Amino acid sequence: MREVTTVGDVREIVDAARAGGDTIGLVPTMGYLHDGHLSLVELARDRVGFVVVTLFVNPTQFGPGEDLDGYPRNLDRDRALAAAAGADLLFVPPASEIYPDGFRTKVRVDGLSEPLCGRDRPGHFDGVALVVTKLLNIVRPDVSVFGRKDAQQAILIRRLVRDLDLPGDVIVGPTVRESDGLAMSSRNRYLDPAEREAAVGLSRGLFAAKAAWRAGERDEGELRAYVLAEIEAEPLLEIDYVDLRDPADLEPWPGGETPALLAAAVRVGRARLIDNVFLGDSDAGPAIGSARGGKGTG
Ligand code: AMP
Repeated sequence: MREVTTVGDVREIVDAARAGGDTIGLVPTMGYLHDGHLSLVELARDRVGFVVVTLFVNPTQFGPGEDLDGYPRNLDRDRALAAAAGADLLFVPPASEIYPDGFRTKVRVDGLSEPLCGRDRPGHFDGVALVVTKLLNIVRPDVSVFGRKDAQQAILIRRLVRDLDLPGDVIVGPTVRESDGLAMSSRNRYLDPAEREAAVGLSRGLFAAKAAWRAGERDEGELRAYVLAEIEAEPLLEIDYVDLRDPADLEPWPGGETPALLAAAVRVGRARLIDNVFLGDSDAGPAIGSARGGKGTG
């Protein structure tokens, strides 16, 4: 695995791989890799000949007072894990490489940026849209891979790629969880043992709602109540939101048999944790963000 820090080096190496007949995959991350990230590298590995992993803690997606400075970092560990998972190129740019002096451009996906996490993190998804646009233009992959754990982000990226004719198919991989159900996240590292134990209330509530859906429950208030009950049973958890949305466009869930994205966010200690489940026919959930003609699979 090679490692580079400049856009020019990425282009040169990727162009050479493409000229040699490889297809190209991109897995963008903020580093501090865990098995969730590595599952995306493996998904890319299955589909393409040359996998680029980016490690970039993107400043434009953090709001004032958020954890940009304290975000966990460990380049040596990430390097070893990415190489073992099958990455061919690690791109670790400094912020000045992505946002050089005088950078002025913004990217915004209207309508998908405001609900759910957009309410608590104004501007967050503009930063995500901007950095993903840049990374897709830098690497020009055949396939880019994102995680369903950040369902709103994945839905927004599908739309962004379609709207701006950005390169490649978008693949969305399933959420990888700890054995007790907690979704893996770099931010789990912030949790002390008591907080870690409480945090599982989030997935427990989402799974309870999913079980109720399978048993025929279709009342929005009742479905939300399963999640709220488990969160409220853990005094260390503070609710940001518990919301049902149409996974095609993040509009409020219309009810009935329409599949739903049930998403929630909590605060615990200094961490803000998010998780979601899909309520619908298939366990894995529908191809998120693509029910109305998006690109790719997942
Ligand atoms: P991050 O480093 O948190 O920005 O995440 C990088 C990518 O990994 C995003 O596409 C995330 O959705 C994905 N990801 C994060 N956690 C998980 C997880 N537990 N399972 C699967 N994918 C994940």
